[in-house]
Amino acid sequence: METLTHIIDNQHVTAQAHEWDNVYNPATGAVISKVPLDDDTAVDLAVKAARQAYFSWSETPVLERARIMFRFRELLVNHHEDVAALVTKEQGKIFSDAYGEVGRAIEVVELACGAPSLLKGEWLSQVAHGGIETSLQRVPLGVVAGITAFNFPAMIPLWMIPPAIVSGNTFILKPSERTPLTSMRIGELLQEAGVPPGVVNIVHGGRRIADHILAHPGIQAVSFVGSQPVAEYIYRTAAQNGKRVQALGGAKNFHVVMPDADIDRSVEALGNSAFGSAGERCLAGSVVIAVGDVAEQLVEAMTEKAKQLRVGEGMQPDSEMGPLIRSQHLNRVTGYIARGEKEGARLVYDGRQHPTPHEGFFLGPSVFDRVTSEMAIAQEEIFGPVLSIMREPTLEEAIRTANRSLYGNTASIYTQSGGWAQYFRDRIEAGMVGINIGIPAPVAWFPFAGWKKSFYGDLHATGLDAFWFYTERRVITTRW
Ligand code: NAD
Repeated sequence: METLTHIIDNQHVTAQAHEWDNVYNPATGAVISKVPLDDDTAVDLAVKAARQAYFSWSETPVLERARIMFRFRELLVNHHEDVAALVTKEQGKIFSDAYGEVGRAIEVVELACGAPSLLKGEWLSQVAHGGIETSLQRVPLGVVAGITAFNFPAMIPLWMIPPAIVSGNTFILKPSERTPLTSMRIGELLQEAGVPPGVVNIVHGGRRIADHILAHPGIQAVSFVGSQPVAEYIYRTAAQNGKRVQALGGAKNFHVVMPDADIDRSVEALGNSAFGSAGERCLAGSVVIAVGDVAEQLVEAMTEKAKQLRVGEGMQPDSEMGPLIRSQHLNRVTGYIARGEKEGARLVYDGRQHPTPHEGFFLGPSVFDRVTSEMAIAQEEIFGPVLSIMREPTLEEAIRTANRSLYGNTASIYTQSGGWAQYFRDRIEAGMVGINIGIPAPVAWFPFAGWKKSFYGDLHATGLDAFWFYTERRVITTRW
């Protein structure tokens, strides 16, 4: 049995922990590793190493830092398949999804390769008489930390590490204790690419270690991705402790299907959005609002889609959906199915009866019809393969219903009308909007985050926002 070490100063460091958790392969239920939960000393060691490394790393020419990113990109491309297989092993999602995830992570590294262009400052001559000029420099913050969710073990840490370190910061990652193995592989590849000791450190742990990071005076900024209550807590606590913070939280994503939508293509996109990665995506389309007379046809097609879905182990080529992350989470999701029935929604397809492997934490896809706004399944993030279908007479009503949600991560519309699409785009309260797109995740050159309770902070992940988040501006006024 492998027990996880931390990576500090490019060394594997044995954890001094009292509490350990099992890491599972969710497709078999087998324990594949042990992760330390409460090794506070590791945070102190990592901050010390990161602080030490910061002085020379922040003075390393940005072109050299970018070249390390180019090498890291090549390594990720060469190891695309084995990193993806590791994601499937510890997270459960099917291999093609994991492969796509690693592809998205590579794009963030490609963004970071552009640092010499992106970090350029500003300069204005003759701002006053006497040859006075003003310039602006972008400087790194120092030691920054990332605390990440279980569902994208490759992509989420790599939303953070490449832009942070190429900007001259040093980094401490606390990956999810449920999927910590992929981050170890990423740590090794970063080292192989030439990232010097102390620049990226990986410290394992649970809530207690997150709290230690939030309290540590040697850490200047925190990036967080996880559930809504924790995002809000991280935002408040980090800000109270004087840190810059961005906290991406949970979601409830509404998809609106108009009567003129191309049904076959919409159902394909909706099926992938609702059931892909077993619904464990912050971009999962978990509520569909059928507008006008499209409802009957849509309910029938989505039911058929759910019925046909092949659920199985992620490396099996014919699997279309893998397991949930843990048995406790499976119980939580089936709890929502029972709650939906109790609240009066019509369960048109019951994932609890769907054929699945007997081992592991599998659950089939479910479809509810006649869901209404006050029901828990319409409001709360289920994070499982459960689709709720609502019915509204007009687009205006559909937008009003969607905007009642406390969340605002993503929203999509399916239509062939440019007018309807524009009307929706301009009125829907969501940070990322799709038009005939099931998963409207922006490419890495754009900022990624939601609105409302899906995001706490100002500067989003990726895009230019990431560079602004990980740098401070210094403005110099000069008279020669
Ligand atoms: P989680 O909130 O349980 O855990 C996230 C991280 O926070 C982990 O590293 C965990 O160790 C730590 N943590 C947990 N409880 C904590 C506490 N009380 N105090 C301090 N730290 C704590 O989230 P998860 O289950 O790993 O991830 C799934 C959630 O993440 C979903 O809600 C999903 O929507 C969200 N998510 C959001 C985005 C986005 O872009 N908005 C992306 C991916 C996932």
